[in-house]
Amino acid sequence: MTVLCTEARFSLADPAALLRALCEHLVEHHATVSEREGATLIVLDGSKAVLRLAKQELLARVEAPNLAGLQAMKLAIASHVVELAPAGSAPAIGWQGDGSGPSLLPDFRVLTVTDTETLTPHMRRIRFYGEDLARFDTLEALHVRLFIPPAGLAEPAWPVLSEDGLITQPPAEQRPAVRKYTIREIDVAAGTLAIDFVLHGDTGPGSTFAERARAGDRIGMAGPGGRGLRDAERYLFLADETGLPAIARMLANLPSAARGLAVIEVANAQEEQVLQAPAGVTVRWLHRHQAESDAAPQLLAAFEALDWEQDGPSLYVWAAMEHEAFRQLRSATRQRLRPDLDQHLIVSYWRNGLSEEQHALEKKAAARAG
Ligand SMILES: Cc1cc2nc3c(=O)[nH]c(=O)nc-3n(C[C@H](O)[C@H](O)[C@H](O)COP(=O)(O)OP(=O)(O)OC[C@H]3O[C@@H](n4cnc5c(N)ncnc54)[C@H](O)[C@@H]3O)c2cc1C
Repeated sequence: MTVLCTEARFSLADPAALLRALCEHLVEHHATVSEREGATLIVLDGSKAVLRLAKQELLARVEAPNLAGLQAMKLAIASHVVELAPAGSAPAIGWQGDGSGPSLLPDFRVLTVTDTETLTPHMRRIRFYGEDLARFDTLEALHVRLFIPPAGLAEPAWPVLSEDGLITQPPAEQRPAVRKYTIREIDVAAGTLAIDFVLHGDTGPGSTFAERARAGDRIGMAGPGGRGLRDAERYLFLADETGLPAIARMLANLPSAARGLAVIEVANAQEEQVLQAPAGVTVRWLHRHQAESDAAPQLLAAFEALDWEQDGPSLYVWAAMEHEAFRQLRSATRQRLRPDLDQHLIVSYWRNGLSEEQHALEKKAAARAG
């Protein structure tokens, strides 16, 4: 097998301390770390890094079966060396070998709009063409980060992996907005995928892009991420329109014997879609309350009204919705379901009144506060 290889030397006051911290950190990212012939071997997603200590230096050799693996390992090593070096003492980094010179990020693809389809008054499907999409064709990780360039830019600018192995962003005025969306359909052989965008009428870059998209427009995509479908005997899906694309994709891919319930809240009957699902899975549509603004979120009420068998290891719960509904549902599920994080995914997909950037900052602050 052809192996690509690159090397770097990092000047550090205490290379041993940094190596220890680096290993601890990468283990949290599911790397395996071992000692071999006086060197430290780190293996991550099929790529390996051999790290040796020298006087006030850390020597790194990265080997990978392909360029994407090589760049991913370079990024993992270089970014953590910079992050873990004592404040003000991050070393200058230069890599010698394969894959030198700036490149797109290893998991980044440029997508070109091929066509659009109005599914409902507030849901637009956009189909894209992209190269080398195999890594995105998985039901275990359904969402991607879309990089949406500012409107009116003649040539989109993307983040790149620089010669030092670190990410360089385009200048602020050209920098794409990053938004999370779900792959609704994908055909790797044809190089095509579809994403369903909620048109929420606000000025967010995601919704605005979807309103205006035309064949030939380009955006970037990285990922995939998140948690998707799990094997189970029974399923419970709960979502508003933003989680509908993920539920639709999961339902279409369930085994024919699967049993369960999908409860989907949309604005009104015009926003319902025809979904492909096994006969044993019921799809129930809820129409959003408009009159009673202080009524409990409908998804929460539907969850509380469920008359079902005892929760057990055979049940998988997947729920995604607006933040306030998510908060109330999560608290209700804590009372009714076993605390089995692996079998329950309950997440906030957007927050009323906050942009994605503001929402992400709030989530980080809440996680820090415990
Ligand atoms: C993992 C994941 C997967 C997702 N998949 C999808 C998907 O497949 N399709 C999809 O449409 N969305 C999806 N979302 C939700 C989407 O990322 C958010 O709605 C996002 O905020 C949209 O970005 P924007 O640029 O349009 O608006 P932002 O700039 O983020 O927000 C601008 C304003 O619009 C409001 N707003 C944002 N979203 C909505 C909405 N849906 N309805 C009403 N007001 C809104 C905000 O509260 C804010 O006031 C997903 C989110 C996550 C976390």
